[in-house]
Amino acid sequence: MQAQRMNRKKIYASFDGSQSIKNISTLCIELLEEQKKTWPELKDAHEYLKHIKVRDIQCNGYSVKIQHNLKRAKNSTASCDIAQINSRQCFLCIENLPKAQRGILYRDEYLILCNPAPVFPNHLTISNLKHIPQGIAKNINILIQLSQDLGPDWLILYNGPKCGASAPDHLHFQAIPRGHTPVEKDLQDKDKFVLSAQSEGVSIYKSKDIGREIIIFEGVDKDAIAGVFKSFLEALRSVVKTEDEPMINILCFVEGGKWYILVFPRAKHRPEAFFRDDDEKITVSPAVIEMAGVIITPFERDFLRLDASKVEAIYREVSLDGNKLKCTLKYLPV
Ligand SMILES: [Zn+2]
Repeated sequence: MQAQRMNRKKIYASFDGSQSIKNISTLCIELLEEQKKTWPELKDAHEYLKHIKVRDIQCNGYSVKIQHNLKRAKNSTASCDIAQINSRQCFLCIENLPKAQRGILYRDEYLILCNPAPVFPNHLTISNLKHIPQGIAKNINILIQLSQDLGPDWLILYNGPKCGASAPDHLHFQAIPRGHTPVEKDLQDKDKFVLSAQSEGVSIYKSKDIGREIIIFEGVDKDAIAGVFKSFLEALRSVVKTEDEPMINILCFVEGGKWYILVFPRAKHRPEAFFRDDDEKITVSPAVIEMAGVIITPFERDFLRLDASKVEAIYREVSLDGNKLKCTLKYLPV
């Protein structure tokens, strides 16, 4: 077993899914509190979060939050060059974690860790014990299981290897507490999501007039929802004509005995403005948190000058064309 080979000092607690074990959501909060006491950088990062500037922007039919967070500069500007990624030391491999960092061994396969550069309080990273590539088709079941185990107070997040994962070479998810992202509010507005298909007991909704494309899978049966998601991914792969994983970000949660999987299909990772070298440069690197409506600007200049039209343009540019999505949904079994 992987767990037996790893340094036991790195394990704060273990969770194997049995009923006798303490609720894992509580365990995660305890881990965060313990790590803030023993890992000064994490304490500082959470202190920093209390003082960051956030402002709301009202766009056409939806709103977003802009967060000025200098500590995310490394994430927002991370290289996507495969040679560079392969030549660096992987920061999610256990042997490279900061000395003070510990985690919860999850189902003998993952380590639940405190994110050292949090966007929200209690921001977690869930990292596989092995250095295996980021990919969702084989791992959708564990994402769904994580949302069940952590419970309704958490969102589980996934970034595709080519659209936001800061370590595309090491399989990982994130978890954040519910209630911080504007898209969660959008979900309350039934006019913003249209029932577009039903497949194997899973309802599939498509977003309407919120600036970017979102597909929602809603269902009570976790195997059915995983199956329909995989069919969707395959269909999307053929529509966008790629051999790789189609670019997507995912947000998943449970509520009232149902699973909700939100998929943000992408046309590109970063907007053109990211690559400019003049005054028009905007350092925004959209990943799942940005697609959910919280746009991180590491630099104050961008924090101050982003406005509704710039945000709308970024979403338009990085989100998949709606017609391609409609085409994808036609492939799903009814
Ligand atoms: Zn690694």
